[in-house]
Amino acid sequence: MRETRSMLGLAEIFYSVQGEGTWTGTPAVFVRLAGCNLNCRFCDTDYSLAFFATPSGVVARVREAGGDCPMVIVTGGEPFAQAETSALIEALLADGRRVHVESNGTIFTELPAAVWLTVSPKERLDAGMAARANEVKLIVDERVPDEWLASFAGRDVPIFLQPEGNKRKNIALAYAAVKASPAAFRLSLQTHKFIGVP
Ligand code: SF4
Repeated sequence: MRETRSMLGLAEIFYSVQGEGTWTGTPAVFVRLAGCNLNCRFCDTDYSLAFFATPSGVVARVREAGGDCPMVIVTGGEPFAQAETSALIEALLADGRRVHVESNGTIFTELPAAVWLTVSPKERLDAGMAARANEVKLIVDERVPDEWLASFAGRDVPIFLQPEGNKRKNIALAYAAVKASPAAFRLSLQTHKFIGVP
């Protein structure tokens, strides 16, 4: 493991259950990194800076929050907006965690094969990140953003339509779209919000 004294900026670390996508229902420790390189209109995530920690400091806090929980989800903001995120991923893998990363896919970053990468394209997308994605999450915000499909053509990865904010209109659009294109899409709902957990 590459040990470093460099600091990561973090918003929060908490133990909950993955509410979205392929791994819905799986207990996980969430490491939310501070900051984002985009400014999406519908963003409802508070990724403001709360504290700094080294990669090994984050590993210790993950253990504090979730004990031996196998899954750790590194999210943001945009995780790859911080240079030290790769060292954090290495440190979590060395601690025996199954590491998932949720990214907007704008900043190309080499990742170990063991890492599960969720890409949720917003205003632009790096082709290398599209090629590396294990699953894709398209946010349905008054329309289905099917312009991203070409970026994943020929890749056997699930493409989820996720209604923004669980809003009724967005759910109806996503529901209709997955039924109309069953080979292309799957539906993802923010299930953690149904039970009022983070
Ligand atoms: S990329 Fe994600 S975290 Fe960043 S502003 Fe957009 S919705 Fe928010």
